[in-house]
Amino acid sequence: MKITQIHTNKPQSLSFEIFPPKKEEDFKNIDEMLEILCDCHPEYISVTFGAGGSSNNNKTIEIAKKIKNQYNVEPVVHLTCLCYNKAEIDEFTRQLSYEGIENILALRGDRNPNVPAKEDFLHASDLIKYIKDTTGDQFCIAGACYPDIHPEAADKVDDIKNLKKKVDAGAELLLSQLFFDNDTFFNFAEDCRLAGINVPVIPGIMPCINAAQIQRMVTMCGAKFPEKFQKIVHRYGDNKAALFDAGMSYCESQIIELLANDVEGIHLYTMNNVRVAKRLTEGIKNLI
Ligand code: FAD
Repeated sequence: MKITQIHTNKPQSLSFEIFPPKKEEDFKNIDEMLEILCDCHPEYISVTFGAGGSSNNNKTIEIAKKIKNQYNVEPVVHLTCLCYNKAEIDEFTRQLSYEGIENILALRGDRNPNVPAKEDFLHASDLIKYIKDTTGDQFCIAGACYPDIHPEAADKVDDIKNLKKKVDAGAELLLSQLFFDNDTFFNFAEDCRLAGINVPVIPGIMPCINAAQIQRMVTMCGAKFPEKFQKIVHRYGDNKAALFDAGMSYCESQIIELLANDVEGIHLYTMNNVRVAKRLTEGIKNLI
């Protein structure tokens, strides 16, 4: 089923993001992880895809197949384009079509100095247009969006204009980058509406439960940390168990406020951590 249909049927959805484990022994245990995640009853699970040339990318489709066929949950396959040409993208979409996978999160991907970019696709909007032109309405295509502004964008207005190009090219739903300040998301969603972006904008949420991960997030995705969150890190940063509890509670209250303000779903960045996904979904089971 296309995820747009899921969003039409249900006013608020729960979805997860996972990544294909790099280590072979972790990949062997993927069923254990999927079993627990699917037991939390997400409406769909998205599976990440390397920015280019990664042999792990075959695992994305393999995991998506499992999610669909073994666990009866709808998969969304992430697909990056910066380091692929049209023929390679044709091969991916042909494979997805063969496997009956109907949902693609179309992305540009981050630049990687070790993997040269190819010239067929400069932006996610080019990929979206190409998939639409070559496969028609076969796939539901989602795009990424950035409540804290994409780090390469000149400013907020520029980023929203570019986002509109993505939607005009055929993105039917937007999944957001993680953020820690709900007001940032509410303002962003309002800006989208004002710019004529009328597709569902689903907030992406990630619990920050350890100090190294928090630092990585700040450098990688430019997410801003509100003062109330900084205080938590300052106070509990050296105490693993306390930071875990505080990070989980912060995340849960973020989700509750978003749901109470009628967002159309919650996309949880699970980081493949089943303990976190279980605890969070347990905490909101009567809300969705
Ligand atoms: P784009 O939409 O192309 O945007 C990139 C920059 O270009 C932005 O600054 C934008 O303002 C600008 N821009 C966009 N369109 C145009 C245009 N037509 N003309 C001029 N400027 C334009 N990365 C991975 O490698 N694998 C993954 O699986 C993955 N999953 C993700 C899932 C989500 C929900 C999110 C939010 C991000 C994910 N990423 C993933 C990261 C993503 O690839 C990076 O953030 C990347 O830098 C941008 O990708 P994009 O698709 O948003 O690019």
